[in-house]
Amino acid sequence: MKAAPEAQKRLLDLAELDSVIDRLAHRRRTLPELAEIDEQSKRLARLVTQVIEAETEAGDLAREQTKAENDVDAVRTRADRDQKRLDSGAVTSPRDLAGLQSEIASLQKRQGDLEEVVLEIMERREAADSKVTDLVAQRDEVAATRAAAEDRRDAALTEIDKEAGEVRGRRAAVAGEIPADLLKLYDKLKEQYVVGAAMLHGGRCQGCKVALSIAEMNSIKAAPHDEVLRCEECRRILVRTPESGL
Ligand SMILES: [Zn+2]
Repeated sequence: MKAAPEAQKRLLDLAELDSVIDRLAHRRRTLPELAEIDEQSKRLARLVTQVIEAETEAGDLAREQTKAENDVDAVRTRADRDQKRLDSGAVTSPRDLAGLQSEIASLQKRQGDLEEVVLEIMERREAADSKVTDLVAQRDEVAATRAAAEDRRDAALTEIDKEAGEVRGRRAAVAGEIPADLLKLYDKLKEQYVVGAAMLHGGRCQGCKVALSIAEMNSIKAAPHDEVLRCEECRRILVRTPESGL
């Protein structure tokens, strides 16, 4: 392939701009915020589940407490009713009176036992409620941390995309100065080797850093200026400049 030496030199400008574009794309993919957001998302998912579990437990205990309190009320109502009958003087037979008194005593004992149950549930419920409060606070804090990281990520991406847009504009202008067949070869090589063209600098290919042999240097010296050369080692387009050591 033939191309004017000036067009070949523009390939080096193109390679420089492409490396900036690649660096920006790499920065875009490896923003520290992305790992942080990922980490916080996992923590958030765990906390959301834990909050649901804790709320379910607290809800169960609330229902259990209501049920136990209703049991206490039922026993108390029965004891009150018995007490009223006793106080009314309507029951006169000693046997019935004794039976009534014994029932009141047993209902009072039962009420005491049930009140113990209510207290025990209330304690468990208090612990469950405070666990919910604690987990909700943790969940909200992690959500806020993640949102802040998302804002920082978005700001960084906007910045990178703005810079990349400018560099791509400059790349397009440079590419416009390069003959189509040379540009096509460059783009193909770039796709294959990341860097499509390299300078021959002091007898060394800047693409693979390998020093050319005397024979290779001699053959390059003999080559016409518009001949498009390739590095024998890395196959990139080798661009001659005054610093090539020829
Ligand atoms: Zn090379």
